[in-house]
Amino acid sequence: MVSNMNAKESKFRQAYWSEPVVFELGEEGRTGFKLPQIDDEVRKVIGPAVNFIPSTMRRQTSINLPQTSEVQVTRHFVRLSQMNYGVDSGFYPLGSCTMKYNPKINDLVASLGKLSEIHPYQDVSTVQGALEIMYRLQNWLAEITGMHQVTLQPAAGANGEFTGIQIIRAYHRLKGELEKRTEIIVPDSAHGSNPASAAMGGFNVITIPSNGKGCINMDALKEATSEKTAGLMLTNPNTLGLFEEDVGEIAETIHNAGGLLYYDGANLNAILGHVRPGDMGFDLVHTNMHKTFSTPHGGGGPGAGPVGVSEQLEEFLPVPTVEFDGEHYYLDYDRPQSIGKVKGFYGNFAVLVRAFTYILTMGAEGLSTAASISVLNSNYIASKLSKYYPLKPSLQQKPRKHEVVLSGEKLKQETGVTTLDVAKALLDNGIHAPTIYFPPIVEEALMIEPTESATKEDLDNFIQTMEEIVEKAHDSPQTLREAPTNTSRGRLDERKASHPKTLTLSWRMMLKKKEQNLI
Ligand SMILES: *Cc1c(COP(=O)(O)O)cnc(C)c1O
Repeated sequence: MVSNMNAKESKFRQAYWSEPVVFELGEEGRTGFKLPQIDDEVRKVIGPAVNFIPSTMRRQTSINLPQTSEVQVTRHFVRLSQMNYGVDSGFYPLGSCTMKYNPKINDLVASLGKLSEIHPYQDVSTVQGALEIMYRLQNWLAEITGMHQVTLQPAAGANGEFTGIQIIRAYHRLKGELEKRTEIIVPDSAHGSNPASAAMGGFNVITIPSNGKGCINMDALKEATSEKTAGLMLTNPNTLGLFEEDVGEIAETIHNAGGLLYYDGANLNAILGHVRPGDMGFDLVHTNMHKTFSTPHGGGGPGAGPVGVSEQLEEFLPVPTVEFDGEHYYLDYDRPQSIGKVKGFYGNFAVLVRAFTYILTMGAEGLSTAASISVLNSNYIASKLSKYYPLKPSLQQKPRKHEVVLSGEKLKQETGVTTLDVAKALLDNGIHAPTIYFPPIVEEALMIEPTESATKEDLDNFIQTMEEIVEKAHDSPQTLREAPTNTSRGRLDERKASHPKTLTLSWRMMLKKKEQNLI
């Protein structure tokens, strides 16, 4: 698994530790941290309080926490982190994910005691600063997206979509049209969360095909639009990195039929400070703080997916909204048409502080420059690599926005080396793999989003590596099929990872399955 015959020539070799799980470390009675003694005064208060907890809810058995020293546990987690790959380790061109560098000042500000040690149940008079941050962030996001009002509550992009869909429902319900408006239109290039959110909201999903150029097929859209249409969900630029130039006509078509337009702005990187969804005719938009606005992500959260709406939809926003009366900030729960809450309290506050810091340090000009550089970077990659990984001619014509989709179809036909092999070979060179096999409308797709964080050297190194992989595919395809060999884990059996018999989600599950000889 860790064989590495070319280690000396390789530019990259990931650390590998044969690290036990933390439960296997340590020894009975060993500790890394001592809690301070509880003094008698405190004990007097806490003691009786414990008795309020019903005995059935009190723990009877030991919870078997690992008993390790501080140095043991530090080494354990540092070793595991060395076997990981992140945006702080190297180039991370994962398409549709905006893995940009997250400036450390964002973390610094988010962890300031005055922000990290407040409690959501505190009286609003004691958290005016926190509310001001939220209020100003809402306004900035409204300005950036061209919307009237923003809620910061949703915890992620998909949660934002869910919120948007609930608002679309509430809008049609108030007009007495919900019964007949049962359909949400989604193009076939959409992110999977779009149809999922529409379906979760109780709508029928109508998928429309792209035209030969990778954009919305206007004829198909017009045919799919009717008095049953509740709305359309659209990403623009779409997942091919192409700007939907017919967006004006698209908006008109949907609005004329009485529907609403939802903009999936998870990745706003291409358009920040250049165009605004509101000006394109959209009624709702979500944007991901953990993509465009620089909160680290990839490990499953926490994130934030604020939703902006046009004036006519403001009354449906989740409660509470954060308001300012000219003197004080306050939380407004008195909103009878609100869809209610979509997340505990007011959202993931620390993520919002990071986004606030990011926008504040970048300034309007900085954000728009970031967008320009991200677009320049993806077009640079497209211009250098299109001859090796060509798309169908009809898809090649236009300049890209923040991301570029290439195809490994030609390479596969010529050498048998697949896009999966290319992705694995990149890992061997210390480069995170792009998104692969997405969007599904491109055969052997490689979806590359370099972001504005990439330097010219990063881009040239990536381009050179992609060229070398093509050479290798012709000379010795077998070595690519065995990649990666320089990473702490070799090629995983993807089938095993998802088969119910072998799917293993915890260490205890693994012990059990090993006992039964399933793995
Ligand atoms: C990431 C992404 C989403 C979903 O966002 P989550 O925060 O992962 O729920 C939706 N749409 C697009 C285009 C995305 O890239």
